[in-house]
This record gives sequence, C-alpha cells and structure tokens, in this order.
Amino acid sequence: MVKTADVVIIGGGISGVAIAYNLAKKGIKDVVVIEKNYLASGATGRCGAGIRQQWGTEMNCRMSKYSCEAFETLKEDLDYDGDIEFKQGGYLIISSTEKEHEQFKKNIALQNSLGIQSKLLTLDEAKEVVPFLNTDGLISATFHQKDGHLNPFHTTQAYAEAAKRLGAQIHTFTEVTDIIVENGKIKGVKTNRGDIATNVVVNAAGGYSQLIGNMVGLELPVFSERHQILVTEAVEPILDPMVMSFSLNLYCQQVPHGGFIMGRGDEGEPRDLRITSGWHFVEEMTKTITRVLPPLKNVRFLRQWAGLYNITPDRQPIYGPVDEVEGFYLAIGFSGHGFMLAPATGIVIAESIIGEKTTLPIDMLHINRFKEGNLIFEPSVV
Ligand code: FAD
Repeated sequence: MVKTADVVIIGGGISGVAIAYNLAKKGIKDVVVIEKNYLASGATGRCGAGIRQQWGTEMNCRMSKYSCEAFETLKEDLDYDGDIEFKQGGYLIISSTEKEHEQFKKNIALQNSLGIQSKLLTLDEAKEVVPFLNTDGLISATFHQKDGHLNPFHTTQAYAEAAKRLGAQIHTFTEVTDIIVENGKIKGVKTNRGDIATNVVVNAAGGYSQLIGNMVGLELPVFSERHQILVTEAVEPILDPMVMSFSLNLYCQQVPHGGFIMGRGDEGEPRDLRITSGWHFVEEMTKTITRVLPPLKNVRFLRQWAGLYNITPDRQPIYGPVDEVEGFYLAIGFSGHGFMLAPATGIVIAESIIGEKTTLPIDMLHINRFKEGNLIFEPSVV
C-alpha cells in the first residue's frame, strides 16, 4: 500500500476511474484510487448504462453531448482490447400527459439550440421507430439517433487500465475509514490497509458520498435512494432504441446479448443505503412495460437487482472544491445519470484540481448553489 499520493480518489466507479485517467494523462504522477469492493461494484455496475443527450437543462445537455461524442472514440482513445459495446440505437422518449408534451417542446428547442439533433415526433412517427409501440394514452415522443448505451463493466475497465498504464494506482478491496484534516486542509486518508498522506481527496463515492463528506465534517446536500432494475432472457433483436417515459416512470432497452434491461423508480422509497430487491418493483415494472411494449409479454424475466441513486435537490451533479476544506473535491449527486456523464466528469474534475480552465463551465454545478438558492431543476428524470 502506498504511503503518499498527489491525489486520492475515493470510489472505483466510472467517475473515480475517469477522473484518475484524466489526472494521469495530464501528468499528475501519484494518483491513487481507493475502492472498498471491486471496480464498478457500486451504482456503475448496477446501472442501465443508457446514454442520452435529451435533457431539459443546459448543463445536462452540454455535458451529455460532450460525453456522448467522447464515447464514440473511447475504445481507441483508451486503447482498450475489449469491447465497450457502444451502440447508438437512439432514445425514444414518450409523453403521456399534456404537461409532459409541453415540456418536450421546450426540451427539443433547448437541445437543438445546443447542436443536439433531437426531434419531436407524432405517434405515427414514433411507431416508425418502434413498430410494436402501443400508443394508447400517449401524446407524442422525442427521438435522438445518437443516444444509446454501453457496457458499464467494460467501460470502467477501459478507463482503469488506461489510468494504470499512465501510472495511476488502483487499490480494490480497500476502504477509506477516515480523512485527516488539519487547520482546514486535507492531510491524508485512513484506510483499513494503512494511511496515505495527501493534500487532495476526491469524493467519488456515489451512494456513499454523504459518509465521506461527514469524514471532513460536512453535511452534503445529497441523499441516496434504491433504484431497481431487471433483465429478461435473451431473444432475437427486436428493439433498437432505448424506450423511456418520465410520467410512466420507466426505461427499457435490448442489450447486445439479447436480454431486455428495464428499470423504474418506485414511489416512496426511503432515503437510505438499502440495495435489496422487492417484489412490488417486479409487479409494477412488468405491468407497465407490457402495456407500452406488448410483445414483451412473451419474454421471461431472469433476475433483478438494485443500486443507489445519489440525488441532489435539483437533480444535477455537484462538481468541484468546497470552501470549508482545502483540497476536498466533489464528483457526486449524479441523480441517476452519472454513467453517461463520465467523460465530462473525468475531464472537468481533473482540470479543476490542477487549476486549469475547465473544458465545460462548471460554476453552476458548484456546491454553493444550494446555499445561494441558485438552482436550475432538471425536469427530465426517471
Ligand atoms: P459508483 O459507481 O456508485 O461508485 C462509487 C464507489 O465508491 C463504489 O464502488 C463504492 O464501493 C465506493 N466507495 C464508497 N465508499 C467507499 C469508501 N469508504 N472507501 C472506498 N470506496 C468506497 N446512469 C446513466 O448515466 N445511465 C443509466 O441508464 C443509468 N441507469 C441507472 C440504473 C440504476 C438501477 C441505478 C442504480 C443507477 C443508474 N444510473 C444511470 C446512475 C449511474 O449508475 C451512477 O450515476 C454512476 O454509476 C455513478 O458512478 P460513480 O462512480 O460516481 O459512483
């Protein structure tokens, strides 16, 4: 175990390894990632891994556009031997209330103004994208061909291997148990395998980010909530895009091995760290998805699991340093869309630590926005 580091990153999910890669690429020598389990064992390896640029706030549109373009060449850029399975089959997002339809019009105008070529579709046009879509009770849809999904394990591995080749160290099955702060400055971390002296710590601990904040005496404006997801048996390819609805609270995609992966957020989930599975989710999920995509009635579901969303009040992430503790940085609060933002997260957090101008402006994602009441709410979330 190392004794000193330039930067210690807590969390070996997609955010932690993307930040490590970018820091190492920028020449920071001693970058250390500490992961209490195995890589991608948190939300990253449990997520739907969908990538969309169809958002309702400027920051989410800009970060996801940047990230989506980065995913297009990521395998080559990271010189990865495996397959990150990036498929741009599009996202078909359906509306089932007038309010949602009105929001879609605003979303499309915003997205188009930022160079995202999304379209508002009639229901007939939506059926051209997914012929077996049941449009009863639906009003309209939006579609963007360049959205899609990837394999979250391979993508994490790709970043981790590239970071290691550039000199970063990754310690799995190692837990950060405390953070040493002296006179308001980071001095090191304590782990169950020894202490590491450092002046910079990045909190990339996903659902556990509050516990890490507490280690430096902060109460962070985030909470964690269980989100469940299931996979079916593999069948022949019939569904190209991700189908998503905010008002029906669902998303569903067919992944390359042929299974359908689908999820929803259950109403009234407590704010805690449970990742157990519940029967209610299966009932609601299967009832709703077979109404929207009837052929799925004939497909058997194989298994379910759960992971943690780390959620902010405005459903946008928190990036950058904190005023109270010098050397403590945040990459947290992804509110259910942190996988798709990883390329943006990696670059802007690395630049922020080094003190460079960030590739995308991240001022409005600083933690101080909560104190200042300067919030822009993301409306388009599941
Ligand atoms: P995580 O992947 O949670 O990684 C944090 C890591 O920190 C964990 O591995 C944990 O073990 C480690 N850790 C915590 N405490 C400590 C400690 N004390 N010491 C050492 N290590 C520690 N996002 C999308 O973009 N698209 C989707 O389609 C999507 N679908 C989702 C579906 C579900 C069911 C869930 C749960 C999430 C989904 N998300 C999706 C959200 C996405 O998974 C997360 O935003 C993203 O993976 C966050 O990555 P992360 O690296 O920040 O956190």
